Amino acid sequence: MSAPNIETIVSLSKRRGFVFPASEIYGGLGSSWDYGPLGVELANNIKKSWWRWLVYERDDIEGIDSSIIQNRLVWKYSGHEQTFHDPLVDCRTCKGRFRLDKLLDVQCVDHPEVHPGENKDCSLTEAREFNLMFRTTMGAVSSDDDPAALAYLRPETAQGIFINFANVLNTSRRKLPFGIAQIGKAFRNEVTPGNFIFRTREFEQMEMEYFCRAEDAPRLHQEWIDGFQAWLQSLGISAANMSLYEQSAEELAHYAERTVDIMYRFFPEREDESKQWDELMGIANRTDYDLRVHSKKPEDAEGKRINPDSTEDLSYFDPQTSERFYPYVIEPAIGVNRTLLAVMMDAYTEKTNEKGEVRVILKLKPEMAPIKVAVLPLAKNNDEIVTMAKKIKHELQSSMRTVYDDTGGIGKLYARQDEIGTPFCVTVDHESLDDHAVTVRDRDTWVQERVDVDSLSEYLGSRLR
Ligand code: ATP
Repeated sequence: MSAPNIETIVSLSKRRGFVFPASEIYGGLGSSWDYGPLGVELANNIKKSWWRWLVYERDDIEGIDSSIIQNRLVWKYSGHEQTFHDPLVDCRTCKGRFRLDKLLDVQCVDHPEVHPGENKDCSLTEAREFNLMFRTTMGAVSSDDDPAALAYLRPETAQGIFINFANVLNTSRRKLPFGIAQIGKAFRNEVTPGNFIFRTREFEQMEMEYFCRAEDAPRLHQEWIDGFQAWLQSLGISAANMSLYEQSAEELAHYAERTVDIMYRFFPEREDESKQWDELMGIANRTDYDLRVHSKKPEDAEGKRINPDSTEDLSYFDPQTSERFYPYVIEPAIGVNRTLLAVMMDAYTEKTNEKGEVRVILKLKPEMAPIKVAVLPLAKNNDEIVTMAKKIKHELQSSMRTVYDDTGGIGKLYARQDEIGTPFCVTVDHESLDDHAVTVRDRDTWVQERVDVDSLSEYLGSRLR
């Protein structure tokens, strides 16, 4: 089983401290969210897994961390100033403002039971283009619209990689094919954000640009599509809730040769199965477009430099063939926040206990679990038990994220840990004082085992692996 809808995860997140509405004490801020004590751990675990898989466990990828604010020319030559638009429509009746291609994700203001355009009263305007980049000004400015001071918050992390291509190539002495990976915040002034953390105006991306020869690009593209499906499954996302979407020729970005989206069943409650899916990540073959447009040399059909502002040529010299060319690039791009939502939705299960009560169990993979072990004293008024439990917590915490909790009866404490996905609870009871052993309870099976304290760390470590 997985979560029946996103709302279930919204309320679990608020109740247990994964994600809170941002600026809540001032009435909130449309579609902004703050990550609480458990949410930040889960997000970090996702980012660590991505980074380890790409940067540490392979031999051909380097990491970088580029600035959020770059020279405005980056966004001029990348094409974002000209083309990073979404089609915007207004409803003359309800005064709502919507993204034309995402009407299904939102409700009509006057008739929330239907989507915009689906009611006879709805009167949508023609679509017009709306640029999604957040604008700001940099330095002391004469006026708010001083063009010399205009800057943008990056709408994607990818461009920070392209403009550093020569820096990374020269310092790391890489040969094709190789990749550059980056994790960081991105900002888009989305027309209709919503669906919890699925679409927000501030979010975090994990992007990798894999540079290669043109003739190798189709094969490597397919390898990354396969590889990312396997990685997502390693996070606990089931194959049954993932699907592939091949972008049609009309949908493809003008520079892309082929783009495949990995879709997740974010909307299982929708009756029409085909409408249950939305993009979790995109994997594009972007050709040599990006390195070309940021380079000083390439010329257009009339012999004019396409980029008279760049001071660098981002081409690659192959010493074996003595050829110089602009590498193709395969880009797997995924959002941390959407991944977190998919991981939580997929891990969500319910189980009925012997008293007939429904309990939530978040069956996260141990690697994803914000807390690996909870140490619980059976009697919080017994000093010896409490001391022993706290000592065990301190011994475990250097090798696995461990918490101590004595704020309720044992049944309640177990239920709380199940709900946040803690794989193991360790209970210290009266017998522990005599036999130097504790009860280890498994989150998924509720089976309890007696384990000697001296071998506890090793026992838990091996089960968590
Ligand atoms: P969409 O079609 O959903 O707007 P996109 O195709 O514009 O997404 P990309 O530019 O390919 O998205 O960005 C790569 C990834 O970044 C997406 O697959 C998604 O996981 C994440 N992402 C993009 N926009 C947002 C957003 N507004 N909020 C949260 N995550 C986002």
